[in-house]
Amino acid sequence: MDCLFCKIVDGEIPSTKVYEDEYVYCFKDIAPIAPIHYLIIPKVHITSAADITADNSSIVAHIFEAAAKIAKAEGIENGFRIINNCGDDAGQTVKHLHFHLLAGVKMGWGPESIGKTE
Ligand code: AMP
Ligand code: ZN
Repeated sequence: MDCLFCKIVDGEIPSTKVYEDEYVYCFKDIAPIAPIHYLIIPKVHITSAADITADNSSIVAHIFEAAAKIAKAEGIENGFRIINNCGDDAGQTVKHLHFHLLAGVKMGWGPESIGKTE
């Protein structure tokens, strides 16, 4: 399958590893938008959050467990934000389920941040 993140999991494309276990891989985003910007992905290919079912949803719990571990291990003490972009309107560019872990800066929140103008 021609999937960028599957190739990163397989080591065919280099990445800067932050954390790995049997089910998930975490690496630094190549174009960070915060001082800390990691991507946490399942090792198995799942295209997007829209493909989560009763059969594979345990990976999502595992990803959040990994996020908490990563935050502790990396000394992230003031909080973090986890974002999943699903599909075109949300701006998903890589079609392999991934969660952005952002930290290291006070982040804004509100309608403007998702493009709502009125
Ligand atoms: P999204 O827009 O939610 O699909 O996020 C995809 C993310 O993958 C973006 O933040 C990109 O900067 C990041 N990205 C793309 N290619 C690579 C790569 N080779 N290594 C690390 N991060 C990447
Ligand atoms: Zn994939």
